[in-house]
Order: sequence, then structure tokens, then C-alpha cells
Amino acid sequence: MSKRLSPACQVHPSTRADVVCQKHKEFLCTRCLINGEHARCDIRELRQMTSPSEAVAIHLLVLTNIAKAKLLNRNRVEEEIGEQEVVVATQMDHFLDLLKRKLAGMKNDCVNKMREDFEKKAELAEQLKEKRDIERVMELLHAEVDILLEADSQPQTPRKLRENQSMSEVEFLRHLDKKRQAQKTLSHLKETKIRPTSKFTLAFSLIDICTGRRRNFGKAALDVRSIHIEQDN
Ligand SMILES: [Zn+2]
Ligand SMILES: [Zn+2]
Repeated sequence: MSKRLSPACQVHPSTRADVVCQKHKEFLCTRCLINGEHARCDIRELRQMTSPSEAVAIHLLVLTNIAKAKLLNRNRVEEEIGEQEVVVATQMDHFLDLLKRKLAGMKNDCVNKMREDFEKKAELAEQLKEKRDIERVMELLHAEVDILLEADSQPQTPRKLRENQSMSEVEFLRHLDKKRQAQKTLSHLKETKIRPTSKFTLAFSLIDICTGRRRNFGKAALDVRSIHIEQDN
């Protein structure tokens, strides 16, 4: 009828099959047969299957195996696409982490810049400039009070007793002058109040993300071009 088919063993594709297992519908070589996996199966020797219906049956079995292999191949494609989904999702996670890190860095820079700017602004504030003047006056007042209170407790000299004076005229005038200086400085300081206010404006490019105007995280692309493989069936 048709040319004699000599299918390959399904476990050892480089070896010609000697028998067919009717139960598992598999072509087997002698090695597989000895293996014992098909010990309870109905085994037929291919050599003896010569009738036209047997030949067609063998041919159909060969076709079944080809179909099985092709189906397996298609199933594998589904699996591989699933694997690609994992790969791309991992890449997205990577970018998400990177963005988080970069944003945290940008925010830190922003905080540092704010501190620098606010400090500069504070230096310009009249109240803070005056603070230093007040501090200087207070230091002076402390020192003067100490000196003047100490002066009378010093041992009296005949000259001091005669003049009823604990220090020389020149010295005393110097202290009076310092008193006037302090008075003048304090009278020049007006009582004003500053109420600091501040605000933060998010960068333009980031506002769009927050408001949802920019929603696109990226684009995943899958290429399913086929590669044809030479087959000998
Ligand atoms: Zn085999
Ligand atoms: Zn079997």
C-alpha cells in the first residue's frame, strides 16, 4: 500500500522504534522495552504490522505524535510569554525603586537648599541683626555693673577717702560714657514683631504626576515574530 514507515523511538529520537505500545500509543526501541515501564502494556512489533489498516494506524500514530509535539511547542510559547511578563514586571519594579531613591535624593537636596535660603533670609531680618546689638549691650552692662559694684569694696586709699571717690575722675567719666552708649542703643530699638510664613511649591514636572495629568509609567512591548525551524516531517 504505502511505503513502510519506520518511526523513531519517542524517548530516544535517534533510534528507530521496534515496537508500539497500544496502551500509551507510543513508539519504543528495545532499550525502552527492557526498561520495564511498559511491562503491563499491550506491545506490538512494528515489523509484523503489515496489513493496510495497521500501516494506516501507524501513520496516524506518527501524526498524533507530531501533533503532540506541535501542541507542546504552543504550550511552551504561552509559558514563555508568561515568563516575559515576569521579566518586564521586574524591570518596572527596578525603575520604581530607582525613582523612589532619586525622589528621596531630590527631596533631601531641597531640604538642604531650604535651610541655606532660610538662613540667608534670617540674616537679612532686622530683628536678628538687632539681636546681636542687644547681646553686645547686655555684655557691656554686665561688665559695667560688676566693675562699679566692685569698686567700692576695694581697700580705701587716703586719696580715695579725701575725694570720697572709689575711682579716678577719668575712669568714672569713662563708665558714664558707656552708660550713655547703652542707653542710646536701647532707645533706638523699636518694638516690632515678625511673623514668619513659608510655603512649598512642588516642581512643575512632578505636579503633573500628582494631579494625574501624567499617568504613563512606561510601555511594555512584546515581540511575537516567529522563527521557522526546519522540520523533517
Ligand atoms: Zn527508546
Ligand atoms: Zn505502555
